[in-house]
Amino acid sequence: MGCLRCGACCTSFGVCITPSDIRRISSATGLPPSEFVDTVQDYPGRERTEPALLIDGEMRILVLKRSPSNVCTFYSPGGCRIYPHRPLLCRTYPFKKGMEDMLSRACPCPWAPDEKERARYEKDLKEYEKELKSFRKFAEKWNPRGGGTLKELLAIIREGP
Ligand code: SF4
Ligand code: SF4
Repeated sequence: MGCLRCGACCTSFGVCITPSDIRRISSATGLPPSEFVDTVQDYPGRERTEPALLIDGEMRILVLKRSPSNVCTFYSPGGCRIYPHRPLLCRTYPFKKGMEDMLSRACPCPWAPDEKERARYEKDLKEYEKELKSFRKFAEKWNPRGGGTLKELLAIIREGP
């Protein structure tokens, strides 16, 4: 059995995003990144390994905006409104580095993915690792030079690597 599409993950947590996620979603939806990107302050002991970025003098993490009812901005009761373009974190959830490494405080699914679904997750997990490497390189350039505002950051991300 694979994902139940119950939406528990979309309504429970903030969703970390990478620069590539931002470009992909923006290009697929036509939305400017400022419409769907938010940041939260970095904190010790977090599970995710996305690098924090120096924004307005503070180390912050890029996340998808949340609606006033505190669910992902792209969530609707019918499901994800950007499903084919959703962030890699969503595509790989609830797994971390491999399919044996499951990270979930919310997912109720008794995971037993079939061969096809397993292959899809494994491909997405590899892509996620690749994106994270490139994101870390981006942070290594952005942070030492003093960072900037979110507006400046999103303009640079939009230009692409
Ligand atoms: S982008 Fe889509 S899949 Fe990801 S948390 Fe939001 S609604 Fe859920
Ligand atoms: S990954 Fe888990 S929590 Fe998220 S929609 Fe699928 S079954 Fe539900």
